[in-house]
Amino acid sequence: MKYAPVQNYISGKFTNSTSQRTLDVVSPLDGNLLSKMPMSSSKDLDMAVKAAKAAFPAWSKTPIKERVQVFFRYKTLLEKHLKELAELCSEENGKTYGESVAEIEKCIELTEFATSLPQLVTGEILEVSKGVECRTEHVPLGVVASIVPFNFPAMVPNWTLPNAIALGNCMIMKPSEKVPLCCGRLAELLKAAGLPDGVFNIIHGDVEIVEAICDHPGIEAVSFVGSTKVAKIVYQRATKSYKRALALGGAKNHLMVLPDAIPGMTAQNVAASMSGCAGQRCMAASAMIGVGNVDSIVDKICEEARKIVPGENLGAVISKESKERIERYIGEAERDGAKILVDGRNATVKGKEKGTYVGPTVIDYVKPGMSVATEEIFGPVISIMRTNTVDEALAIENANPYGNAASVFTQNGGMARYIIDRASAGMIGVNVGVPVPREPFSFGGWNESKFGVGDITGKSSIEFWTKLKKSTTKWNAEAGVNWMS
Ligand code: NAD
Repeated sequence: MKYAPVQNYISGKFTNSTSQRTLDVVSPLDGNLLSKMPMSSSKDLDMAVKAAKAAFPAWSKTPIKERVQVFFRYKTLLEKHLKELAELCSEENGKTYGESVAEIEKCIELTEFATSLPQLVTGEILEVSKGVECRTEHVPLGVVASIVPFNFPAMVPNWTLPNAIALGNCMIMKPSEKVPLCCGRLAELLKAAGLPDGVFNIIHGDVEIVEAICDHPGIEAVSFVGSTKVAKIVYQRATKSYKRALALGGAKNHLMVLPDAIPGMTAQNVAASMSGCAGQRCMAASAMIGVGNVDSIVDKICEEARKIVPGENLGAVISKESKERIERYIGEAERDGAKILVDGRNATVKGKEKGTYVGPTVIDYVKPGMSVATEEIFGPVISIMRTNTVDEALAIENANPYGNAASVFTQNGGMARYIIDRASAGMIGVNVGVPVPREPFSFGGWNESKFGVGDITGKSSIEFWTKLKKSTTKWNAEAGVNWMS
C-alpha cells in the first residue's frame, strides 16, 4: 500500500473514524492498491458538525476582506504544489498527468474567483423615504456540506469550498469513496494558508454518510455533484429536512455538426471532447448529430480518434465495473445495427494489465432510440446520429431528459444563434466542444442535469451560500412618520 490509511479531517486534525469498515483505494492506471479509506458512521459526522459549529461564530464575524486573504495564500500554495497534486490526482482517478495539471490549474482559477468576492457582495443601500434607509447584506448560512463525485478529485471540491468558506460558512466535504486522497491534501494546504481549525472538515464514506448529511439538523445547506439518480435522492432528502439544496446530475451532451463546419477544427474538438478524461466529464460530447452530409468530417473524427492511445494520451476509466459498462453499451449498439468505426473495446496497456482502459470509440448510424443515443455512457465513446435538417437535430437534443451542455459546429452565425435559442441545455458552445463557462460565469445545467435554483460556481453561487438580511433604519428625529417610514 503506497499511502497511509485515509483519515477523516475534523477541527484541523486527521482523525480515525469510529467505524472499522474500510474500502480499498485502487489506482485505475495499474490496479495497484494506493490506500484504504474509512466508511465513516454518523457519529463521525456529528463530530465534524460540532467542530464546524464551534468555528462558525468567529469565522463568520471575520470581515470578508480578511477571510479571502486565506484564499490568496491557498492559491499560491496550489501553484507551488501543482505538480505533486496533479500526480496524486492521476494516480487515484486514472486521468493523464496533463489532464490533472489542467484540473489543478482550474482549482487555481476557482480560488482566484473566491478572492474577488469582497467586490461582489457589497450589498445595497438606498434612502427609501426621507431619513429612512434600507440596506441588504449577504450573511453566511452556517455549517454547509459538499458531496462530490469521482471524476474531478480536486476541481469539484474547489467548485464549492473557496466560495462557501470565503462567504463565511464552515464546511463538511464528503469526497467520493473512489478518490479520497486529493481532498486530504487540499485540507493540509488550507491549514497552511491559515484557515482556522473547524472551518473545513472532511468525512469519508458513501451512502450512509450522504444520508446522514441530508438528515443532520446542524447542516443548513447541501450541495451535491454526481449522477442524476443520486442527485434526485439527495435533493429530495435534503429538502425534506428543510435544507437548502443544489444537486447537479449526469449528462448526455449533443454536438450538432452542420455541413459548413470547418472540418479539421471540428474533428479535433469532437475527438478531444469525447475522449478527454477518458470521457468521464459531465461536459463530454457523448452524442453527435450530423446534419446533411458530414461524411468527410466523420472520416476526420475517426482519424483523430485513432491518434488517441490508451496509456499514452488517454487515461484509464475509474473501475473494472465502468469498463464493463462502457463495453456493454458498445456491444448493444453493434447488436442494434449501428456501425462501430473505431472500436476501443479490450484495450490494454503493456505493463499495466490490471489498469482499466477503454480506447476511443466512434459509433456511426446510431438511431435516436438506442441506448447509446439516450443514456450517459461516461466513457470515451461518441454516438453519431444523422438528420436532414437542423430542426430534426434540435428535436433529438430537446427530447433528451438531461440538459447540461450542447454545442453547434458551423460558420453560419445566424444558424448558431437559432440553435442557441432552441437547445434545451444550460451551457451552449459554438465551435467549442466542452463549453464550460469560465469564472466569473457560473456552471450549471438544466432539466435532469440539475435540481435546485441557481448555479454552483461563479457569481450565481453567492445566492446559494448566503442569505439576505434586510435592515431598515432611521436615525434623525426630523424624519417624518408616515406609512412608508
Ligand atoms: P455518484 O452519483 O455515483 O456519486 C456521487 C457521490 O454520491 C459520491 O460521493 C458517492 O459516495 C455518493 N453516492 C453514491 N451512491 C449514493 C447513494 N445511493 N445514495 C447516497 N449517496 C450516494 O457519481 P460518480 O459516479 O461519483 O460521478 C459520475 C457522475 O457525476 C456522472 O453521472 C457525471 O455526469 C456526474 N457529474 C456531474 C457534474 C455536473 O456538473 N453536472 C460534474 C461532475 C460529474
